[in-house]
Amino acid sequence: MKSSCLVLENFIGGKFVPCGSHIDSYDPSTGAVYCRVPDSGPQEVDAAVAAAQEAFPSWSARSPEMRAQILNKLADLMEAQLEEFAQAESRDQGKTLTSARTVDIPRAVYNFRFFASSVLHHTTECSQMDHMGCISYTVRSPVGVAGLISPWNLPLYLLTWKIAPAIATGNTVVAKPSEMTSVTAWMMCKLMEQAGVPPGVVNVVFGTGPRAGDALVGHPEVPLVSFTGSTATAQRITERSAPYCKKLSLELGGKNPAIIFADADLDRCIETTIRSSFNNQGEICLCTSRIYVERSIYSEFLTRFVAAAKKFKTGVPSDPSSSNGALISKEHLEKVRGFVALAKSEGGIVHCGEGVDRLDLPERNANGYFMPATVISGVAQSSRVMQEEIFGPVTCVSPFDSEEEAVAKGNGVRYGLSATVWSSDVGKVHRVARRLQAGLVWTNCWLVRDLNLPFGGMKNSGVGREGGKDSYHFFTEVKTITIKH
Ligand code: NAD
Repeated sequence: MKSSCLVLENFIGGKFVPCGSHIDSYDPSTGAVYCRVPDSGPQEVDAAVAAAQEAFPSWSARSPEMRAQILNKLADLMEAQLEEFAQAESRDQGKTLTSARTVDIPRAVYNFRFFASSVLHHTTECSQMDHMGCISYTVRSPVGVAGLISPWNLPLYLLTWKIAPAIATGNTVVAKPSEMTSVTAWMMCKLMEQAGVPPGVVNVVFGTGPRAGDALVGHPEVPLVSFTGSTATAQRITERSAPYCKKLSLELGGKNPAIIFADADLDRCIETTIRSSFNNQGEICLCTSRIYVERSIYSEFLTRFVAAAKKFKTGVPSDPSSSNGALISKEHLEKVRGFVALAKSEGGIVHCGEGVDRLDLPERNANGYFMPATVISGVAQSSRVMQEEIFGPVTCVSPFDSEEEAVAKGNGVRYGLSATVWSSDVGKVHRVARRLQAGLVWTNCWLVRDLNLPFGGMKNSGVGREGGKDSYHFFTEVKTITIKH
């Protein structure tokens, strides 16, 4: 198996460069080795940073229009291979082929198109101070070599969300995708030359967090790091980059509440809350993992929600009838199962999913990391199950009696990434959305995104925001110039 599997190479200075050692990366739907990923360390990162530094002066001197043309070309090339990218993403990550085809890869393509366009429309500021005989204005410049680190749940989608704005604004980059999902990043590198991306503008170094990631974050010539991943890793990155005063953007974990009032449109609410809880195996930072329901409709909601969860099919990722595929790894599956066991041991009721419903999988998927959509009730707010990010297809349902209680419970965790609010009372919706401690609040919907608007979390869910203007600000340095006339 190992000898016939894909062997990836780093992409440095416009060339694929072999690495001396590799680590295995698995197909989560079978448990077999899918590819071998370079186990890069400081040496490979040094070479990539040097290539990025060399490319910076001429890339940053190009006009935004010229850079935008290249981003659009890259988007076109990726789109022309959408099916190949989708197949690889599904196999590498375990997500359904349908998701990879309709969400991940189209969004990766759109990230390049969006920032190609967005970068052309920003203006800087000007302020007149006539009483001082002065005029002041701001200018913005790319920062330099950007270090970009991304997770495994939406591999190409989140990596391109960083690469596109970084290079559109004139930076050069060294990117490190998750060691568990590196294949589509490597495929993208194959398109760089044809798209016209000059050597050294985009470098991709593959490997683990503690070796390749750490070397990138600790590199003195990388003044900016954009990281998406867990809160624990972000803490390490913050410490590691502190001696260099690096510019940091941190997009982290969540423990996102749904607050459902008695006057909600329950049909729409249940259909959407099933998706918000279980989509992508629950492996989206924005997934709902705590559902608070007004007591008068609690029992009806729970019955209908569990029935809908039972219909949310977990199966082979390439099967179009599967709503969910496999979790990313054996370790992660065990961690998620551990939370279900903990809930049970604390007196929680598991209504469906793990330990209740059997999965019907073909023989070749017997060792895959599958877990059905799981609904739990009866867990205390203080339980680790209600406080910690599970990042799997598990959600907990709990009743509330007042708006005050719902807001307090919604806010009662260390995270603050996203929330949903369900009600037909427009005043209540605004009031509750305003009071929730979350970077994103969706009311009567979920995951509707305008890439122009800020994306990111409060509290332990992150530092900074990304999106149209926010990404432009993050990936550029601003300077105020004052002229006396
Ligand atoms: P992770 O923190 O384990 O890894 C993320 C990336 O960081 C990987 O590329 C990894 O190799 C690298 N890394 C690990 N240790 C490192 C170190 N010491 N120095 C530098 N890099 C290091 O996270 P994960 O398990 O890959 O992803 C899941 C997490 O990501 C969840 O917490 C999820 O909520 C979060 N996430 C957040 C968002 C968001 O936008 N807020 C989006 C997706 C995922």
